Amino acid sequence: MKLKDKIIKKSDDLYQAYVYPVFNRKRTISCPCCGWQGPAFLPHGLEKRPNSRCPKCDSLERFRLYYLYLKKNLPTDKQLNVLHFAPEKIITKFFKKYANIDYLSVDLNPAKAMQQEDITQLSFKDQTFDVVFCSHVLEHIPDDRKAMRELMRVLKPAGVAYILVPIMDSYKGKTIDKTYEDFSITDPQERESAFGQHDHVRIYGRDFKERLEEAGFVVTIDKFVESLSTDQAERFALMPKNSFANETDGWIYCCRRS
Ligand SMILES: [Zn+2]
Repeated sequence: MKLKDKIIKKSDDLYQAYVYPVFNRKRTISCPCCGWQGPAFLPHGLEKRPNSRCPKCDSLERFRLYYLYLKKNLPTDKQLNVLHFAPEKIITKFFKKYANIDYLSVDLNPAKAMQQEDITQLSFKDQTFDVVFCSHVLEHIPDDRKAMRELMRVLKPAGVAYILVPIMDSYKGKTIDKTYEDFSITDPQERESAFGQHDHVRIYGRDFKERLEEAGFVVTIDKFVESLSTDQAERFALMPKNSFANETDGWIYCCRRS
């Protein structure tokens, strides 16, 4: 993003975060990550879906979901080695608040995390981490099966890997029964047309769970969003409202060693 665009975005965010709520006193929406309250989150995404991005902390629907899930489920009474891929800023901040967490973020791009790592060829020893958090990464990775095996390799016997990807039941009016991938499509524009984003290499279907199991994981799906009240889901705007939205967006895939 150019500097001029960054300045425009930042000033728009500041206006939406602090000025707009002064004039519009509705406080129906709130961010569980940073406490911001206002009439609505900002539109976000290629389709500019409404009520999505927090103007104060930049959280999106799924980040708020992960935040609430981890807050409820992460043990605070034992030492945890946490490995976080392609770190979302607000989730990094969350992990770093815990005194019992030894935290490491990694990314293929060294500017985006604490350490550079290739998810298909990790530098860590076997069974190093208690918690692995990897969201919206595998849809970018051609050999995702190898990446899954690597995630399992570095997980401790009692550890858990949260592995999340966008899953679609249909795309452009066509039902997605099975994960769709075609490695002959390499042009970014063609990928955007085929997979919904220029840097995606597939569209996952609900057989994502089986792919994780083929890699050796035992997978349980926590339909977390369904355990919350409608009021909470609406107040925190947890489910995206756009044509790509899917029931599975509210599910957490918990993967353990067999
Ligand atoms: Zn926020």
